[in-house]
Amino acid sequence: MPAATAQEIQRVTQRLAQVRKRMAQAAQQVGRSPEEITLVAVSKTRPIQAIQAAYQAGQRDFGENRLEELWPKVEQAQGLGLTEIRWHLIGTIQSRKARMAVGPFALIHSVDRLKIARRLDRFAREAGWVAPVLLEVNVSGEETKHGFHPASVKAAMDELVRLEGLRIQGLMTMAPFVPDPEQTRPIFRALRQLRDELQAAYPDQEWRHLSMGMTNDFEVAIEEGATIVRIGTAIFGKRAEQA
Ligand SMILES: *Cc1c(COP(=O)(O)O)cnc(C)c1O
Repeated sequence: MPAATAQEIQRVTQRLAQVRKRMAQAAQQVGRSPEEITLVAVSKTRPIQAIQAAYQAGQRDFGENRLEELWPKVEQAQGLGLTEIRWHLIGTIQSRKARMAVGPFALIHSVDRLKIARRLDRFAREAGWVAPVLLEVNVSGEETKHGFHPASVKAAMDELVRLEGLRIQGLMTMAPFVPDPEQTRPIFRALRQLRDELQAAYPDQEWRHLSMGMTNDFEVAIEEGATIVRIGTAIFGKRAEQA
């Protein structure tokens, strides 16, 4: 397998530095420390060399949305000695593939319905694992988006907290793409408020993460309390489907 070229490494290093700088500025804007925010580099559709280039630039958290793509990359990364990667599963899990979500993953962001929570719980327990998860919430109510409706997450909590194969660590959302990212602010704010309500009602869960913000809107998300941003395009360039 060809290694990342010096040019690729240089380009990704520059882009990562830019993104980190913008993250820090957004955090400072609202008096937050940049260190409390994790940057997940979304490497879906990218070759392993892109991951390798970012790794050489110091990036360790990577996000993938399809299990069929994630698993081979886990193996390729290992083969290249990229042993410190923390993998994040950020895409919808199909019910019949839930077993594949049991693996060396740092965080599963996309538990978006009870059915998946139950299946993941079962497979995790069978494997002797406790899966760290976020609950994905469809705050905007767009039909094309996955996730619990805000009211349904509350209704599901009594059952969710009893699933011993899952460890709930917070909430995730995707805002609709809009030309003016400022318009996404109410969505991020609503996710934080929902987290605050759930935290008051279920204080024994960790609730430490709000995974929100992508290339188009991560600064607004950070201003509204994101602890994890998931960024692909600003680090790796446009994906083929966006070109
Ligand atoms: C693709 C994707 C991202 C990153 O999107 P960019 O606009 O490229 O930053 C973030 N989160 C999820 C769930 C994604 O599928």
